[in-house]
Amino acid sequence: SMASPALLMRVVASAYSVAEKAATIVRNVMSAGDLGIVEKTGPNDLQTKADRLVQMSICASLARKFPKVTIIGEEELLADDVTEDLIEDCHCEEILKKPCPAQYTGIKEEELVIWVDPLDGTKEYTEGLLDHVTVLIGIAYGGKAIAGVINQPYYNYEAGANAVLGRTIWGVLGMGAFGFQLTEAPADKHIVVTTRSHSSALVNECITALNPDHVIRVGGAGNKIIQLIEGKASAYVFASPGCKKWDTCAPEAILHAVGGKITDIRGNSFQYNKEVKHMNSAGVLAALRNYDYYASRIPNTVKESLVP
Ligand code: AMP
Ligand code: MG
Ligand code: MG
Repeated sequence: SMASPALLMRVVASAYSVAEKAATIVRNVMSAGDLGIVEKTGPNDLQTKADRLVQMSICASLARKFPKVTIIGEEELLADDVTEDLIEDCHCEEILKKPCPAQYTGIKEEELVIWVDPLDGTKEYTEGLLDHVTVLIGIAYGGKAIAGVINQPYYNYEAGANAVLGRTIWGVLGMGAFGFQLTEAPADKHIVVTTRSHSSALVNECITALNPDHVIRVGGAGNKIIQLIEGKASAYVFASPGCKKWDTCAPEAILHAVGGKITDIRGNSFQYNKEVKHMNSAGVLAALRNYDYYASRIPNTVKESLVP
């Protein structure tokens, strides 16, 4: 008889369905119209009803199926608010049918850490820039991001009433990434994608030093990684603290699964073990191709201003 699927594939298959339910919640909160906005550290660090409900949905759904996995979510919430309608118990059969990469077949629940950003790009969500929003579920093992799910609830929202809204991108190291068409950015242009709502003098100094042909300013870490893997931008450059482990874990797994690279601005890789500090204090540098080109052009003054 068939051996039962490896834990990692069961987690990814469940995370896929959980992320699709999350997307439904994100769309429902917006169409109901009451966002319930709360300022966390200030006006550029917001939480909405969607951030709260989605985090409860994702964390409770995954914890119920995988009770020994460590799950770390962005929002600080009271767990007892979870209602049964928020629970997703389905999984994606197609993912479950795929073989697990050999190096991950023996992973146990206690060894996994799941980093959850229930709604990445909250500032943009509150401003109606809906296609900037993603739901991020990153899966780490041995301190490394090894698998991830990115749901974009409003993908296709400008394509008209008959278009299917939303999509789910997923990937595993050693397997690749799925749910989109991998595309390289134009080879003859340097297109930098960066923050829209968290700029600073240092962020801009760093971009200027790269002398790009074009700069795209959009919200969300998930959204910016999608721009890299779909050939809209050649590098994601963010010379500032502010990005957290839940912002980079799922995007990192997907980018690395297709041969890209993401580090802090100084070239250090990110760690995702459960004890690690949440803040990516030394910023973000990522590219699908030619990472070294961009890394070699980050000024030392910028690197020295960002302490890991
Ligand atoms: P952005 O590119 O500005 O959308 O940032 C990517 C992610 O990092 C989002 O989840 C932001 O909320 C978060 N982030 C970046 N900078 C800051 C900041 N200064 N304060 C709070 N969150 C930030
Ligand atoms: Mg985020
Ligand atoms: Mg968030």
